[in-house]
Amino acid sequence: MTKRKIALFGGTFDPVHLGHTTVAEDAARRIGAEKIIFIPAKRSPLKGFLPKANDKHRHKMITLAIAEQETFEVSDCELKKPAPSYTLETVRQFQNEYGGGTLIHWLVGADSIDDLTYWHEIVELIDTCLLTTMYRAGCEPPDFTKYEPIWGPQRIEKLQQNVIPTPLVDISSTEIRERLAAGRGVTDMLNPSVAEYIRKHGLYGSKSTANGE
Ligand code: ATP
Repeated sequence: MTKRKIALFGGTFDPVHLGHTTVAEDAARRIGAEKIIFIPAKRSPLKGFLPKANDKHRHKMITLAIAEQETFEVSDCELKKPAPSYTLETVRQFQNEYGGGTLIHWLVGADSIDDLTYWHEIVELIDTCLLTTMYRAGCEPPDFTKYEPIWGPQRIEKLQQNVIPTPLVDISSTEIRERLAAGRGVTDMLNPSVAEYIRKHGLYGSKSTANGE
């Protein structure tokens, strides 16, 4: 019997942008996942700084960005726990919730490959879910062969089989934050509702347009 598939997409989403939604949608379609769940992290264990926008704002921006897409959801499960968020714990939580009949894909962008050896219990994570790597503009196509001596050929084959040639969308949250702080435009990079929310709340050094907020 074919198993159900869901895609989990973790990140700081500070803010969520059109790169995130475009590649996640494409990946989920190619995987055949029935839904994609965005999971904002309280903070990334590997980023040496805290998100600029608070948990509530980052969660709300995702809600706005995915409002039109029926198969997209957002979960606050990592925001409710003490930081930092560990992917393996989150995957296990969803596995318990969905049961053995569902395959769990954890989506990452190609830029994450170089960090993987620093991930908490990475070997366990590779064995527990389908770690699924998406192409990212500015990064080489994902290639895991350098990890074969430490993780072994079977894990490398599993990782390579779960590489998805998603469209290249050259957007990052860092660039958006920098542009906003410099008073420059970000319209093509964000869902319009997210851009409006950022302006309304004066996030990332943008000029607030809110009255009295
Ligand atoms: P920052 O610039 O703050 O590091 P980011 O744009 O990389 O942020 P994150 O929230 O850190 O966004 O990313 C969450 C996940 O989405 C990561 O796995 C990252 O690799 C992936 N990702 C982000 N932007 C893209 C993109 N344009 N194309 C493909 N994957 C992306």
